[in-house]
Amino acid sequence: MAILRFKALESSINRTPIAVIPPSNKVSDYFATNVFDKEKMHKYLSKDVFKQVQEATSTGQRIDRKVAELVATSMKTWAISLGATHYTHWFQPLTGSTAEKHDAFFELSDEQRPMESFSSSALVQQEPDASSFPNGGIRNTFEARGYTAWDPSSPAFVMEGPGGKTLCIPTIFVSYTGETLDFKAPLLKALSALNQAAIPVCQYFDKNVTHVWSTLGIEQEYFLVDIDLFNARPDLEMTGRTLFGANAAKSQQLDDHYFGSIPARVYGFMVDLEIESWKLGIPLKTRHNEVAPSQFECAPIFEDINLAVDHNSLLMDLMDKIARKHHFKVLLHEKPYAGMNGSGKHNNWSMSTDTGKNLLSPGNSPKSNLLFLTIFINIIKAVHDHADLMRAGIASASNDHRLGANEAPPAIMSIFLGGQLNAVLDEIEKSVKDKKMTPEEKTALKLNIGKIPEILLDNTDRNRTSPFAFTGNKFEFRAVGSSANCGHPMTILNTIVADQLRTFHTEVESMTKKGTKTDEAILKILRKYIVESKAIRFEGNGYGEEWKKEAKKRGLSNVTTTPVALDAFLTKTTLSLFERNNIFTHRELEARHEIMLETYIKKIQIESRVMGSVAINHILPAAIKYQTLLIDNVRGMKEIGLAKETYAAQVEIIKEISAHIVIIKANVDEMLEVRKKANSIENLRSRAIAYCDKVKTYFEIIRYNVDKLELIVDDESWPLPKYREMVTIR
Ligand code: ADP
Ligand code: MG
Repeated sequence: MAILRFKALESSINRTPIAVIPPSNKVSDYFATNVFDKEKMHKYLSKDVFKQVQEATSTGQRIDRKVAELVATSMKTWAISLGATHYTHWFQPLTGSTAEKHDAFFELSDEQRPMESFSSSALVQQEPDASSFPNGGIRNTFEARGYTAWDPSSPAFVMEGPGGKTLCIPTIFVSYTGETLDFKAPLLKALSALNQAAIPVCQYFDKNVTHVWSTLGIEQEYFLVDIDLFNARPDLEMTGRTLFGANAAKSQQLDDHYFGSIPARVYGFMVDLEIESWKLGIPLKTRHNEVAPSQFECAPIFEDINLAVDHNSLLMDLMDKIARKHHFKVLLHEKPYAGMNGSGKHNNWSMSTDTGKNLLSPGNSPKSNLLFLTIFINIIKAVHDHADLMRAGIASASNDHRLGANEAPPAIMSIFLGGQLNAVLDEIEKSVKDKKMTPEEKTALKLNIGKIPEILLDNTDRNRTSPFAFTGNKFEFRAVGSSANCGHPMTILNTIVADQLRTFHTEVESMTKKGTKTDEAILKILRKYIVESKAIRFEGNGYGEEWKKEAKKRGLSNVTTTPVALDAFLTKTTLSLFERNNIFTHRELEARHEIMLETYIKKIQIESRVMGSVAINHILPAAIKYQTLLIDNVRGMKEIGLAKETYAAQVEIIKEISAHIVIIKANVDEMLEVRKKANSIENLRSRAIAYCDKVKTYFEIIRYNVDKLELIVDDESWPLPKYREMVTIR
């Protein structure tokens, strides 16, 4: 194994960067060439059909069979012209990665003549076996079959691989009885709920608004590690993170990696990733080094949220494929290395209207500013009322390492507004009166509201420690994990905001019916929300211990572990929230909850097993070998008559090694027993908690002792690549 380590190290040092040549110097020459977008549809479809498809896409209506047939034919012609031989429905099951099942266009006609074919039925619906995907027991009680259905609002694309090209059709994935089994279907439902709820609210201010949608820009953090070093680490290979590893003497303490110059090999990877992304219509814009050594980030220009989520899933897949080409492995795990920063996925989120307004961007008049404030305050209220659900939406075994680890937002949900907007909210709280306001009072308040500057983006006024921060013209949900499918937290966010906006509208209507003027009703209700949601507003340091105490005083939850955080999915509040917005039925929520618990258990179980086997099969043999070497040495020294003091150091190390070995062995054995016990627990939640509170607690002590051994044992015989070797990219 040590030989493998050195071989891996040698090849990682000797690699030459792979240069990549873009199809053109201008990205606009080849952006979205592999996407069946509006432009291509226009070219391949008659005007009339094109219009029908566009309409159906923007309104979310069904596309009729005849039109679908024409779309399928043109899609096939286009894809074949690019060299595609196969097609697949491309979907996002609850495994967390994307799924595809390829079929050839090739077909035999009735006369057994070979031909290329792609029918509307192949475009619109397919039937993958639902029982092979996580379904939370839905398949046991209902039909085993599931189907994927075309999402015309996300354009089809041609994926290139070394072996050929495939037409990919974005689809939702549902069980035969209609339960959603993926991340896309609920998101689409939440977006529809948001649209319906936001329109009447926007119309208080602008009658021309007839469509509201969400926008999302996802910043993706990741680590790169040389593929040979990766392959020499069974823990990394099986769990996505290093279960062992002493900290390198030099890690991120000098802060010299962030925004530093990009190593040539990494640069080659980034350029390649960008080219392939651009071809697929992913609008990547930014690339840079991140805080930890060998950590990087890329970010696209924001898009319609459904597309942004699809693009992020596609991007993660591309990153993996392209990294391999450059002899890297991309690590999307939230915490690949202990003691170094983890990776997140900042979700920059806002809402837009068909009148061209970003609803989180203040305007230049009191009226447009009041619209901005209405949306803004309703979002704050929604996050306040459903903070536990927001927390549950980002819960996973891997993200648990990150939240609250003094480098990422804590598990406490809070919102950062910035000084200016805090002042505006305080002002409204102070000036809006319960009784009827005088015209002078109203004018004074409107004047103040009109004063909100159009540009709020002030970089000095930024708080990087907040899990949910307002950043000038959007909210940034920073607690999302780097490996997550954003569809999940975004379904939650859009649903709670939709629900809140509907409540707001109802409240305003009932007040105006009783004779209050609309603008006064709006202000009064907003004031009420400001008061009610005060506890969630926090401008200070979210990483500090002080905040934990303060949050407790305010009655905010701080749930640090996944199995308990997930409870928020099954509270009465959540169940009725999702049901009244037509996002999830009770059955679906229970199924999802079950899947998330199962995933958690499996992840910890795998980590525990890998930990045991690496400790016993890799670490202990190396330690014992080195110890034997020392024993031989001591024996030799004794034999030639040297004094005891001359080999005292060796004896000391021999003893130290023994002590660590004893602890490691005992704890691995004990952990196995505890795991067995946990496995016998029938109730899923209790089993998950047992894995979290019992099994996982052994990780720390086993790791501690292994890492101590790493610092003692001869470098030449250490079996695993070390941190300093893995995080240094040459
Ligand atoms: P940061 O300083 O946090 O990196 P940027 O301005 O670079 O901020 O934006 C980060 C992300 O936010 C980008 O993906 C960007 O496109 C996205 N973004 C900007 N405006 C919006 C918006 N209105 N809605 C959603 N995302 C947005
Ligand atoms: Mg950001």
